[in-house]
Amino acid sequence: MRAIREIKLTNTLSGKKEVLETLEPGKLKMYSCGPTVYGLIHIGNLRGGLVADLFFRYFKRVGYDVTYVRNYTDVDDKIIKRAAEEKTTADEIARKYIVEVERDYAVSGMLEPTHKTTVRDHIAEIIEMIEKIIESGRAYVIDTGEVLFSIEKADHYGKLSHKNIEELQAGIRVEVNAKKRNPMDFTLWKPAKPGEPAWDSPWGKGRPGWHIECSAMASKWLGDTIDVHHGGEDLIFPHHENEIAQSEAASHKTPFSRYWLHHAFLTLSKEKMSKSLGNIFTAQEFLKRYGGEVARYMLLSVHYRSLIDFGNETIEHTLQGLHRIYEAKALALEISKQARARADLRAESVWGEFAASSEAARKEIDDAYANDFNTAGALGSLFTLIRAFNRAAAEPLARATPSAVLGATELLKIIDDDIGGVIGVGRLDPRKALEDISRIRAERSSATGTARPTETEILALIAERAEARKAKNFARSDEIRKELDARGVTIKDGAAGTTWDYK
Ligand SMILES: [Zn+2]
Repeated sequence: MRAIREIKLTNTLSGKKEVLETLEPGKLKMYSCGPTVYGLIHIGNLRGGLVADLFFRYFKRVGYDVTYVRNYTDVDDKIIKRAAEEKTTADEIARKYIVEVERDYAVSGMLEPTHKTTVRDHIAEIIEMIEKIIESGRAYVIDTGEVLFSIEKADHYGKLSHKNIEELQAGIRVEVNAKKRNPMDFTLWKPAKPGEPAWDSPWGKGRPGWHIECSAMASKWLGDTIDVHHGGEDLIFPHHENEIAQSEAASHKTPFSRYWLHHAFLTLSKEKMSKSLGNIFTAQEFLKRYGGEVARYMLLSVHYRSLIDFGNETIEHTLQGLHRIYEAKALALEISKQARARADLRAESVWGEFAASSEAARKEIDDAYANDFNTAGALGSLFTLIRAFNRAAAEPLARATPSAVLGATELLKIIDDDIGGVIGVGRLDPRKALEDISRIRAERSSATGTARPTETEILALIAERAEARKAKNFARSDEIRKELDARGVTIKDGAAGTTWDYK
C-alpha cells in the first residue's frame, strides 16, 4: 500500500498537535456528533456539519478508506417538549426535522456520510451496551428503573476535559437526586413518563440517556476503537467525557477514540445587528438568502478551532473572497479557451514564472490542509497565486499565447480540485456565481439603505480618481474619496497604489 501523506491534528485528548496514525493503516474510522432534531438547525450547527465534511473530504483525498458515521439525536427531552407544543408525536417531530436538516446539508454541498444513524434504530445496541457497563461494575440501577453511570468507577474520568472530578463538580449545577452515589453520575437509561416515547428494557419501560447513543452507534458501525471523533467544543464536557467513560467501561479497551477534534463556536457580531442581517440564525434562512457557497466559504475559510464572529463584516469578507476567486476563474476560462494562441517570447518568461508559482501553491495548499486543516492558509496561498495570475494576464499580448493557456488551465485545476475538492467552493460557473454575488450585494445594500458599492464599482471609482489626480483635478479626486467614504468604503494611498476596504 502506498504511504499516506502525514497529517497533523490537534487532539483535545492530549492537548497537543499530533501526527495522525490510524489503528489500521490506510483505514480511518470517524464519528461526528450530529444535531438534535427538534427544530431547524442554526448556522452554528451548519458549521459542525461542514467541518466534519471538510475532514471527510481531505482524509479521502489523501487516500484513506474512510468510514464516516454521523448521528441524529432523535430521542430527547427537547423533542418531546416540541411535540407537546405542536400537538404531535416526538417521532413526527424528529422525522420532520431530519428532512429539514438533510435539505440544509445538501444545499451546503456536504458529502453523504457512510452511515447516518438514529437512536430509534439502535435501542437494542444501547441496551446491550448498558448491560455490559453494569457487568463491569461501573453502572448501577436505582429502584425507579433508572440506570446511572458511576463516574468514580471510571478510569480517569475527566481526561478529555483535563479536569479532576472536584473541579468538574464545582463547575456544574448539581441535580438533586438523593439516590445518586455521586451527584455527577449520569443517566444511561431513564424511566419514561406517560405519553413519552418508551421501549422495553431489563429495567422497565424507558428510554436511553443522551450520551449512551453515541457510544453505542460508534461501536456498532466502527468497532471498539475509533480513529477520529469530532464535535463542537461545547460537547467536550460532559458529552464526550461521558462517551469515553461508557465506551471504555463496556469494551475494556482504551482509548475509545484516538483523536478528538473540536470546532469552535460562532459568536454573534459585536456590531449592532443591522436590518440586513435580520434574524438569520437558522441555516435555512441563511442558505435561502446567500446559498451554499457563501455558507461554505464563511464557515470553512476560518480555522475550525477559531471563533467566527457572525456579522455583516464576515459576510462582506466572504463575498469579497468568492468574488476574487470567480473573477480569476472567469478570466482563466476565457484565456484557456483561446482558439488561436500565438507564441510570444516576452510572454514566455512571465508565464514561466507563473508556472513555478502555481506548482509551489499546490504544495502550500496541501501542506496547509495537512497541518490541522489550515483552510485559511490554503486560501491565502490561492489568493497569492491569483494575484500572480492577474499580473501575468495583465498584458493583452501575453494573454494570447500558448503559455498563457497552460497557466490558465493550471489555475482552473487548482481552483476546482485543490480548493473545490476540499473546501468545496469555486466549482460553480463563474458568470453565474458573479451574478449571484452582485445580486446578494444589491439586496444587502437596499436592506441597509447605504447602497454599498460593489468591488467593480469601487475599482472604477479608484481608477477615475487616479486619472483626476494625474490631471491635477483635485476637486474631483476629493469628491470621489468623499463619495466612497459616505458609502462605507475607506481608501488609502500607498507606495503600491491605492488600496480600499469596506468600513
Ligand atoms: Zn455524541
